[in-house]
Amino acid sequence: RLAAWQSPLRAQFPILAGPPGPAYLDSAATAQKPQAVLDAVGIYLTTANANSGRGSYPWANTTTALVEGARDRVKAFLGDPDPDRSRVHFTSGTSEGLRTVARDWLPALLRDGDEIFVPYEDHEANLAPWLEARDLLARQGVRIRVRALPYQASSGDYDARLLAELAGPRTRFVAATHVHHVYGADMNVHRLREAVGPDAVICLDAAQSVGHQQVSLAGLDVDFLAFSGHKALALPGTGAVWARGARGPAFRPGGWEGTPNTAGVAGLVAALDWLEEAGPDRIARWTTALTALLTDALSRMPAAYEVLGCRTSLAAGSEVQRRGSIVTFRHRGISAQDLGFVLYSRGFMVRSDGHCQAGRSVRETSVRVSVHVYNTLEEMEGLVDTLADLQ
Ligand code: PMP
Repeated sequence: RLAAWQSPLRAQFPILAGPPGPAYLDSAATAQKPQAVLDAVGIYLTTANANSGRGSYPWANTTTALVEGARDRVKAFLGDPDPDRSRVHFTSGTSEGLRTVARDWLPALLRDGDEIFVPYEDHEANLAPWLEARDLLARQGVRIRVRALPYQASSGDYDARLLAELAGPRTRFVAATHVHHVYGADMNVHRLREAVGPDAVICLDAAQSVGHQQVSLAGLDVDFLAFSGHKALALPGTGAVWARGARGPAFRPGGWEGTPNTAGVAGLVAALDWLEEAGPDRIARWTTALTALLTDALSRMPAAYEVLGCRTSLAAGSEVQRRGSIVTFRHRGISAQDLGFVLYSRGFMVRSDGHCQAGRSVRETSVRVSVHVYNTLEEMEGLVDTLADLQ
């Protein structure tokens, strides 16, 4: 039944139309775009292109309404329980969203002796901004202690036994990740709030969850959330950061924002509409079925392959997590770069490097397969056959 649901959706992605070419298995880096997104961008640029927040002629008004309406669209998509008080700021992606929080808001919050927790094993984008904020404050004589968010690579989730460390009286800020971009784990973010209490601020990197599964701010209980529009079927160079209003973030709107990527915003609204119509829960079930096929197969070839982080599995009684769109692995005899090259020659586009993971040496590379709504069972079965060939 899911396959019957998926097939007409795939048909809406023009880049994937035509005779089957190489399978695109790098959606965690950026996703393909449905026709509806391309149309929305084209229609905006050919009927109303102007700057936003300036001018009072019709094109300018349409553009201003588009950008302001898009903030509400993002809030609704994220299930914002208090949209009248929260804010949305458009960015070029998650990196800029996190950096905006670190630059415009974090310094005002922190006092000498405070502690912040950051994920040392996650994407660089969720580490560098916090370390830079600490260094900036140090130059002003404010000393912040940066601590590693307790984390367990084997399960790919926060280390439940160590979370009590977050409860210290000096903990002011936690930079968390929703879904790890290498291990694929859907992390238990609500446990961070339980550990840290109501007063500390949590900022969530949702680059790998928004667009892949239902994301509900009401359930997450975080103060900031950054995501990449381009990983959620919108144009390259799009994204947003959401901020809970009660915390009063010092984003400076208006002219300071410069000219927003208005065409990108038009595409982002269309992408969120498309995703909502397709159903984020169904997308998650589909991608989980695909990644489970791969992890189950790799775990039957332990002499050749090592799977990193969490595994998705549909096997009965399996204790591993239930959903995900990312599988990362190494071949015990072939380097990741070589394997990536061979896989492309056999018709599969995968990522093979260090995946921008903080603190990793260049030698610690791996192959990452990541899927989205448009990937097919045939593609995954073909990949499994090829990997079995290369054992
Ligand atoms: N965080 C995570 C978890 C990511 O996977 C990525 C994308 N590789 C980023 C941040 C950075 O996103 P962007 O390139 O859109 O800034």
